[in-house]
Amino acid sequence: MTSSNNDQPLIFERSRSGRVGASLPVADVPARSLDQIIPQELLRTAAADLPEVSEGETVRHYTALSQRNYSVDTGFYPLGSCTMKYNPKVNEKIAQLPGFAKIHPLQPDESVQGALAIMHEMQTYLAEIAGMDACTLQPVAGAHGELTGIKLIRAFHESRGEKRTQVIIPDSAHGTNPATVSMNGMEVVEIPSAADGGVDLEALRKAAGPKTAAFMLTNPNTLGLFDPQIQEIAAIVHAAGGLLYYDGANANAILGITRPGDMGFDVVHFNLHKTFSTPHGGGGPGSGPVGVKKPLIPFLPVPIVQCKDDVYSLSYDHPLSIGKVHSFYGNFAIYLRAYAYIRTMGPDGLKQVSKDAVLAANYVLKELAADYKVPFNRYCMHECVFDGLREAAPGIRTLDVAKRILDYGCHPPTIYFPLIIHEALMVEPTETESKETIDRFIAMMRKIAKEAVEQPELLTSAPHNTVVKRLDEVLAARKPDLRWKKNV
Ligand SMILES: *Cc1c(COP(=O)(O)O)cnc(C)c1O
Repeated sequence: MTSSNNDQPLIFERSRSGRVGASLPVADVPARSLDQIIPQELLRTAAADLPEVSEGETVRHYTALSQRNYSVDTGFYPLGSCTMKYNPKVNEKIAQLPGFAKIHPLQPDESVQGALAIMHEMQTYLAEIAGMDACTLQPVAGAHGELTGIKLIRAFHESRGEKRTQVIIPDSAHGTNPATVSMNGMEVVEIPSAADGGVDLEALRKAAGPKTAAFMLTNPNTLGLFDPQIQEIAAIVHAAGGLLYYDGANANAILGITRPGDMGFDVVHFNLHKTFSTPHGGGGPGSGPVGVKKPLIPFLPVPIVQCKDDVYSLSYDHPLSIGKVHSFYGNFAIYLRAYAYIRTMGPDGLKQVSKDAVLAANYVLKELAADYKVPFNRYCMHECVFDGLREAAPGIRTLDVAKRILDYGCHPPTIYFPLIIHEALMVEPTETESKETIDRFIAMMRKIAKEAVEQPELLTSAPHNTVVKRLDEVLAARKPDLRWKKNV
């Protein structure tokens, strides 16, 4: 990439021949030449083409780049389905304690009793929050939890000599759900949503049968709507011999209020980087623990953390286990942060999280309903979905609204997901934002709705205030220009 549309030169463009980042007095011990230290055949013949810059310039360069990052520590981040809540710094402090940060996964069990005790407690907490009987901490993402969960379901059916190859998924599902099913070599059976956004019971009844391994459901679903028919749904799936899988990405709506296990689900994953406030974004690391009901316990990944007479150990002796799904025990440093979060919040605190998250989303839904189309006339849970602007110059789309939001220095909500809402704009304010922040967001969204009618070109040509203006998204995806070449 060149710096043509960019006021920030690349570090290579700052380079001046002979400039150095450090100056030290001449050494008073005899110098050894490089080939006395490194074998001749391993030495470069020409010097590496590295930028030559001073320390001060280097610091300014990278500090300026870091200030271009948008994060939950710099601003409101209402990215629906992702639960971009504030991550309390006490979690980081705890994860940095040397007793946690400096241990090694190959240490003998007796030398890491504290870490094992935390893993054991964390499994217990998550199983309790989910209403499940046991839990594995090994998967390292929500999608990875899904993969693990569907493997468990498959192993369960196979152990009973049943060949069940289909997984039913509603058309509102997150893309990782069908991807998980395919990755497991099973068949996706998609069913349409009902007019109120919930599961179409008739369609489910038709789809469920002797080939059904599971029904995967997010509840509240990706529209932010809770499905009150859940017990009937569970009865239909179980009567067909299938199991019910809970995609827990939206668990921020239900903590301490209801539990997937009580709704009839058999397998659950949580996204700790969403619901339990571990750092989120940039592709990882995450954590996607999976909870199961009793009949699925024998199939859980090894090792299992167990406790006998106050001594913790890792147990590999589980002949029906699906095996390992990740090296060692998953991302210890991540679920450790989530453990700190659960302990600092306590049961009442977690319940308050969900109450406040749901309140905040309903406030946004109500305040923006005059300007943005509301596809379902219902209370929402922790996030709300709009179907584009109510009124605008012809041709103004949700994409234009999102680009205009960037001009106001805010991260846009999720757009064009879920797929069944054509102009979807999905706002998840989370419980950690103040009323003032949410009010500023609402005022900004109203102002943009007004601009869409009065000065539509402000939206269609947005963003105006960002370093990179509007990209040709097709070209950017097909022919990404990511490489800098010297003197071109
Ligand atoms: C985020 C999300 C996932 C996938 O979780 P990752 O941790 O990103 O792999 C699955 N389902 C839903 C509904 C989600 O929002």
